[in-house]
Amino acid sequence: MNETTWRIYGIRHAINANRTRGQNYILDPDPGAPLVLDFYCWVLVSDDRAIMVDTGMDPQVAARHGHTPLLSPVAALAALGLEAAQIDTVLLTHAHYDHLGYLDAFPNAQFYMQAEEMAYITGPFMARPWFRRAYETAEILKLVSLLHAGRLHLHGRERQVADGVSLHWVGGHTAGQEIVRVRTARGWVVLASDALHYYEEYERGIPFAIVYSSADMIAGHDVIRALADSDDHVLPGHDPRLALIYPQAESAGSEHVLRLDAEPAARG
Ligand SMILES: [Zn+2]
Repeated sequence: MNETTWRIYGIRHAINANRTRGQNYILDPDPGAPLVLDFYCWVLVSDDRAIMVDTGMDPQVAARHGHTPLLSPVAALAALGLEAAQIDTVLLTHAHYDHLGYLDAFPNAQFYMQAEEMAYITGPFMARPWFRRAYETAEILKLVSLLHAGRLHLHGRERQVADGVSLHWVGGHTAGQEIVRVRTARGWVVLASDALHYYEEYERGIPFAIVYSSADMIAGHDVIRALADSDDHVLPGHDPRLALIYPQAESAGSEHVLRLDAEPAARG
């Protein structure tokens, strides 16, 4: 039986160039030092199928939070020869606003998310500003609408999505944060999304500052290690280093679309 391998395109849809270490790390010794935050969503492409992973960020929401949009996921898909309306599967790694923009651009898609994330974003912790601060109420209501329309599928901790693509709960950043394991031509890659914002968390065993459970977040590093072929097969969700070590996707013709299934240069 032929095993499906996938190409992974990383779409750098936004940036926050004014971010500091203190906004990213708890008790950082150098809190005023700059640490750029890039924002990614992803598309997995096999010979006969494309799967979207997260959907970017609404530009108005981005502006409100001081982030600068770079490339809409819809435009990035078009540059790759794909139409958003033709995408039939969208995986949502968690429901923060920088992962849930453009939901309406995928009218023919089925959406997949951890049941635990849905319980979290409609449960008692959302009464507390610390926990709800990266969620947009209007986007949560859209998820409820998709659920009631039979288009949002809420799954348990592990779910196979396609041959060579599976979802795994890690929690930590949010109650229902999940990671995506992808078979590529160079082996198993883990798309960590916000289970790792930066490589630094993984390298130093430290949590990101926006956190539901720091214990689960750090335990998640071991899950990532167990599922990826090596540390050079791990992709954080927000690290500017990605654009330095992975090549541009030639076919897309944009510096904001990377080939994340390629061999990375040294992580530096
Ligand atoms: Zn994020």
